Amino acid sequence: MIIKIKKNTEEEKINNMVDFIKKVEGVEVQFIRSKEGISFGITGDIKAINKNSLLNNKYVDEIIEVKEPYKKVNRAFKPEDTIVSIGGEKIGGEKFSVIAGPCSVESENQILAIASEVKKHGAQFLRGGAYKPRTSPYSFQGMKKDGLELLIKARKSTGLPIVTELMSPYDIEHFEENVDIIQVGARNMQNFELLKELGKTKKPILLKRGLSNTIEELLMSAEYIMYGGNENIILCERGIRTFERYTRNTLDISAIPIIKKLSHLPVVVDPSHSSGKWWLVDPLAKAALVAGADGIIVEVHNDPENALCDGDQSIKPSKFADMMKGLKAIGDAIGKEV
Ligand code: PEP
Ligand code: MN
Repeated sequence: MIIKIKKNTEEEKINNMVDFIKKVEGVEVQFIRSKEGISFGITGDIKAINKNSLLNNKYVDEIIEVKEPYKKVNRAFKPEDTIVSIGGEKIGGEKFSVIAGPCSVESENQILAIASEVKKHGAQFLRGGAYKPRTSPYSFQGMKKDGLELLIKARKSTGLPIVTELMSPYDIEHFEENVDIIQVGARNMQNFELLKELGKTKKPILLKRGLSNTIEELLMSAEYIMYGGNENIILCERGIRTFERYTRNTLDISAIPIIKKLSHLPVVVDPSHSSGKWWLVDPLAKAALVAGADGIIVEVHNDPENALCDGDQSIKPSKFADMMKGLKAIGDAIGKEV
């Protein structure tokens, strides 16, 4: 529920009202300041709130019921876009951010070489999996802690903040200390215990849409993290399962403007996992930019033929450079800084 306060109401009166509502057990109150004025959002057990007495309050202009099950991530609760800060970098707002790197960290030479290439061609963040969620237990499972150490080395040598996937709540502390953006993979989007734990940190979370999850379910998973107290969330559309088998997944391009309408959170697109094919990465990245995404997360490998994971969908550094040029040209045309 959102309570819109009449224009020119003194702060003191608003604070008194907020303090009064906060006394109701099981509810949380949050200020919403926008161009239209001051409102406050009430979440939790709102049945306990006496709506009529609020309506009769002389400072209350209007009460808006938020029908969607997601509240804190709802644009109604925060009309302006959320911009997530990561060190000196930002995701959201005017900038189209580029996160690039291999699917998995494989060796020191590999990650250092790729990190320096993607940095040279304009990436702001380095991605690389250390703990890998593989369909088969016989597939490469990632370099784990050693992989994380190599990512830290790559950050040191390039200055690029690092993005890597967390699979278990047991590793949260280590990730909190060492990682700049914690990725929650598609397979863990509804691992609610993991999401609850991530709500307790302040680290930026890149939350990927599940393989067969709706947009509403993605927003509900983000709500778990935000309800826990962490507002630094970046959503990621990474393709969904459909009947189409030509591509690994189907990029739901409409999810971008839909999420931007429903939520204030930034949204990035993964053209690599959504297509499964390296030659589709460039056109899908461009489509994402034009559709209003806040950035992309893209797999780049210096030797895709011999990659230990996802070589077919990884682009070489030279292709990455070409793609960046194309994105910059489109960005100039549509007024988005790439
Ligand atoms: C990844 O980014 O390497 C990954 C495993 O992605 P997803 O969770 O989207 O499949
Ligand atoms: Mn991958």
